[in-house]
Amino acid sequence: MRCPYCRHPDSRVTDSREQDEGQVIRRRRSCLECGRRFTTLEEATLAVIKRSGVTEPFSRLKVVNGVRRACQGRPVDEDDLAQLAQAVEEAIRATGVAEVPSDDVGLAILGPLRDLDEVAYLRFASVYQAFSSIEDFEKAILDLRSEHRLAADPSLSTTRPDDSASSRKDPRR
Ligand SMILES: [Zn+2]
Repeated sequence: MRCPYCRHPDSRVTDSREQDEGQVIRRRRSCLECGRRFTTLEEATLAVIKRSGVTEPFSRLKVVNGVRRACQGRPVDEDDLAQLAQAVEEAIRATGVAEVPSDDVGLAILGPLRDLDEVAYLRFASVYQAFSSIEDFEKAILDLRSEHRLAADPSLSTTRPDDSASSRKDPRR
């Protein structure tokens, strides 16, 4: 890491500590040439594998941008979107893999988005899961309805295993 003042390539680490629960390492450095001090941040990258095979760093901003259209006109603000993106990142990091397919990012969005706003969820799911007919909407809405019933009366839960929208990939099923 070059000194930001004089571009000298060598520096000495004077302090090193973790932040964000160890996901980031922050180092204080002192330039061996000019002696000035600067800070570097080191973060393990979480990579997303796009359908093209190209990988790119996971980006909360991309998650936010991906769901923002689905949230248009809904009572969802920027804080909600930021929290959703954080929940998505945490869910993906919790799986313990350093590279995830972009489809898995979409799957990780569905749950938190459903909790946030069901209309936005239906919009997002319809695009992400390529709903091809009105029956696809009907099924997704039935799933939501039965969850509402479950929430109101948990004794119904024995009749139905969790086959929520997130588990179906084939739109023709
Ligand atoms: Zn320097």
